[in-house]
Amino acid sequence: MSRIAFVNGAYVPFAHASVHVEDRGLQFADSIYEGIAVANGRCIDEEPHWDRLERSLRELRQAMPMDRTALSWHAQETVRRNRVRHGVAYVQITRGVARRDHPFPRADLLQTVIITARRFDPARAKASGEGGVAVKTMPDIRWGRRDIKTTALIANVLAKQAAREAGAYEAWLVDEQGFVTEGASTNAWIVDADGVLTTRALSHALLPGCTRKTVLGLAADRQMRVAERSFSVADTKAAREAFITSAGNYVTPVISIDGQPVGDGKPGPVTQALRRAYIEEFVEIDA
Ligand code: PLP
Repeated sequence: MSRIAFVNGAYVPFAHASVHVEDRGLQFADSIYEGIAVANGRCIDEEPHWDRLERSLRELRQAMPMDRTALSWHAQETVRRNRVRHGVAYVQITRGVARRDHPFPRADLLQTVIITARRFDPARAKASGEGGVAVKTMPDIRWGRRDIKTTALIANVLAKQAAREAGAYEAWLVDEQGFVTEGASTNAWIVDADGVLTTRALSHALLPGCTRKTVLGLAADRQMRVAERSFSVADTKAAREAFITSAGNYVTPVISIDGQPVGDGKPGPVTQALRRAYIEEFVEIDA
């Protein structure tokens, strides 16, 4: 649990951290966010997150409330004040507070900026990261601009809840053509039947994950065979390996899909190599 939150320029005790009832983030999900991993007390692999945050704001026609150096400084300070060693820093920006009405309010409205930081449960992170997790597939019922990281996450929330109720850790969302878009809060990967590391190409259909981008770089450095292409639920069932990526999960093996084991039902060598590479590069650095 976070003990201090940054809200609109002030560091406040978590119990008193609040926004107005007419905040447009609350009323309309007129807001964007980022979750940045923290390792050894530092935000890691930060730049892609600030790039995406700027892009999300542009797509919603919102301004940067402060420059990226200042945002990064406050994220780091929130981590420090909460004494988080390993966890996630969360940054949310809304269009601000105005009388409830759909069109944009006046252009000089003060945006709301919220930053919190919280720890991972180390035992749980280790168990899922090393042992692997189960996923459940379900229809992707989200809107058409999933590439923008808005807080309009109700379809993701419902999918994740359905997965958890079925005993799975993550939901893999499937489009109308039968192809996996991504997880409810992660990107989806397989090592296909021919051994090709495969993840869906970027488009409006999925979030351009920062960890996805970094892992593609790690795979290229290791001369792995990689394809950015759509894969179907049937492809996932024939896959040798599967995994998910996100700031909070790094590279986490998927060992079963809809109750059926992936490969031999254990984390595979490509997944483990990429997880190790990610941890060596970002997590164990000056640990
Ligand atoms: N896809 C969705 C829908 C997400 O919410 C997230 C992260 O929150 C991701 C993918 C992974 O993105 P990242 O690697 O930037 O954390």
